[in-house]
Amino acid sequence: MAARAGWVMLVGWGGNNGTTLTAGVIANREGISWETKEKVHKANYFGSLTQASTIRVGSHKGEEVYAPFKSLVPMVDPNAIVLGGWDISNLSMADAMARAKVLDINLQKQLRSYMQSMVPLPGIFNPDFVAANQGARANNLIQGTKKEQVEQIKKDIREFKEKNKVDKVVVLWTANTERYSNVVAGLNDTMENLMASLEKNEAEISPSTLYAIACVSEGVPFVNGSPQNTFVPGMIEFAIKKNSVIGGDDFKSGQTKMKSVLPTSIASYNHLGNNDGMNLSAPQVFRSKEISKSSVVDDMVASNPILYSPGEHPDHVIVIKTAKEPWTNTPEIFMGGKNTIVLHNTCEDSLLAAPIIFDLVLLAELSTRIQLKAEGQDKFHSFHPVATILSYLSKAPLVPPGTPVVNALAKQRAMLENILRACVGLAPENNMMLEHK
Ligand code: NAD
Repeated sequence: MAARAGWVMLVGWGGNNGTTLTAGVIANREGISWETKEKVHKANYFGSLTQASTIRVGSHKGEEVYAPFKSLVPMVDPNAIVLGGWDISNLSMADAMARAKVLDINLQKQLRSYMQSMVPLPGIFNPDFVAANQGARANNLIQGTKKEQVEQIKKDIREFKEKNKVDKVVVLWTANTERYSNVVAGLNDTMENLMASLEKNEAEISPSTLYAIACVSEGVPFVNGSPQNTFVPGMIEFAIKKNSVIGGDDFKSGQTKMKSVLPTSIASYNHLGNNDGMNLSAPQVFRSKEISKSSVVDDMVASNPILYSPGEHPDHVIVIKTAKEPWTNTPEIFMGGKNTIVLHNTCEDSLLAAPIIFDLVLLAELSTRIQLKAEGQDKFHSFHPVATILSYLSKAPLVPPGTPVVNALAKQRAMLENILRACVGLAPENNMMLEHK
């Protein structure tokens, strides 16, 4: 099927994730390879659900038949993604890639010339929402009142569209984790109150909510890759009224994925060492991570009264550590036994996050194009603007108010695959495999 081009603006473009993603697109597009002491590496999209996995589409003469995930319906080709975005630091993307220390140096050397002229647009900064140590990099800022800042972001989006001659852009937050915003009646609990608060330049509207307001006003999908509550109730109401896609929260990389398959007693560590870790060292900011990580097994626990009595919950401790250390799961097994599983994970986190960002952006764009109707209805309607199709990739999936959150990984994946199957007229996968019985 024809590959589509896509246009993406990242908030926090100059960070570890933003630079890694940008480098990944260029390296893949240009077919770059680089040598390490082990071997010659070629650019790839490993880790991306849409680019590197397959879906079972049926069976033929007793053999299972799989097709690449990306081939079922027309999707944006990551090689054809045009990137832009904002950062509160004015380093060029080439220098920001060096600052991030994620990619191999021989690859960085080949990418520098492509990334030198890319410079992030000034961002909205509010020191009250992040750790004090983030002030040192804040030299590229949008001034003015909150309303003026929103207007600037809207203008940036429009100019990006004009420059690239496109009418579609997806915006994704991969900037630093903010502290939780207080949700207060009269301030941000309804769309009307949020808009009135914007007019009054209220202190409690976070930068991420300001970007989200700008995107929804422009009808541009906005995905939140960090754990904070960007989508306060008034913000969600605004997106629903405007029928503009929002999704999140918090990239589901690494540990969370494992946890949602191996729950019982859980200790999670977040690691210091990069700028994300430095920012998370402030207690008010770390609280956002703690909340987003601690709810990831809720639905699985609630669905099994045999293992968990009402109100019972596995011990789940979220800790920040200075070094990478093993984390432990100790499920209770038959007759009071213990089955201790120790996992040790060492990697550059952004190499886990970047493929997830591709998937989030591609699926958010796709969800703007899918329409459905129930039997008997005569009109098609689009998906609900709160994009639950992104759940598989989100640590704390955002769902429409009053609907259940699904954290179980297998269910989330099945939902996504079955939606794609439905788009091409295949029945949902039921795994009964009756054809072999
Ligand atoms: P990073 O600190 O390297 O990058 C964040 C970038 O955002 C920085 O360049 C910073 O200058 C910029 N920034 C901060 N506030 C901004 C604002 N208001 N407007 C514009 N730019 C702003 O961090 P990272 O490692 O790239 O991670 C980014 C986010 O992704 C973090 O919140 C992290 O918690 C979240 N996350 C990462 C992973 C992962 O595996 N890497 C997983 C889940 C969530």
